[in-house]
Amino acid sequence: MADHAARMPRAAAPVIAAEGLDLVYRTADGPVHALRDVTLTVNRGEFVSFIGPSGCGKTTFLRCVAALETPTGGRLSVNGMSPDEARRARAYGYVFQAAGLYPWRTIEGNVRLPLEIMGYPRAEARERVARVLDLVELGGFARKYPWQLSGGMQQRASIARALAFDADILLMDEPFGALDEIVRDRLNEELLRLWDRTGKTTLFVTHSIPEAVYLSTRIVVMSPRPGRITDVIESPLPRERPLEIRESPDFLAVAHRVREGLRAGHGDL
Ligand code: ADP
Ligand code: MG
Repeated sequence: MADHAARMPRAAAPVIAAEGLDLVYRTADGPVHALRDVTLTVNRGEFVSFIGPSGCGKTTFLRCVAALETPTGGRLSVNGMSPDEARRARAYGYVFQAAGLYPWRTIEGNVRLPLEIMGYPRAEARERVARVLDLVELGGFARKYPWQLSGGMQQRASIARALAFDADILLMDEPFGALDEIVRDRLNEELLRLWDRTGKTTLFVTHSIPEAVYLSTRIVVMSPRPGRITDVIESPLPRERPLEIRESPDFLAVAHRVREGLRAGHGDL
């Protein structure tokens, strides 16, 4: 029995386990039920997208995982720890819609910043920064300043910064929401390759159905007032996904189910 357990793949341990999660914000206009009874398990190496209209609690859920909000009910563990312990153990890197790079720091200076804060030795920090900049194909831009880079490149730099300290989990909140569609397509392909190479467990928030379907191993459809999960869709798509896969019957079937889920969530407003 013990022998069997020892041979179990690590993938069996959930990275995120949310059970009956509730979060009510107290506001001047009364309580806002941002999350209601959210139950979800995310396993190691999964790519899970959260899709739903504004205000359905996507950001709130990510913030709970990151211990930036405290749920008002239910249970949540991250890497088998409380979210707060996981935060202190640097369990995740966070990428936001705005790249949030400091204009007075070079790209490598920006990517190095979390490592400086964590007190990494200089040589190791330098090596890590070089490695993650290569990973996002910005190796040649290390000495440039953010304003010298396109929006898409800035967002890649912000992904590199989130990867620099090798957290297990990548939390991405509409990272490509402000970019045009062509750039977004390209970054979607790159992100998929990056995910494949690094095996990071990724939680990804988006408004875009094609983006969610293209990237994810699982898609969580949410609905607002109260914020809740209305559908969880397991993707039948292979891991290898050229952009053309978006015209395949499997892809279109999943996209259709997401769209139906979003529509149903709106029906009871
Ligand atoms: P999403 O990311 O899906 O757009 P959010 O998680 O940001 O949704 O918000 C969920 C709900 O909680 C919304 O109604 C929003 O107005 C409300 N909300 C979010 N953050 C706060 C806060 N800090 N204080 C009060 N209400 C908030
Ligand atoms: Mg949001």
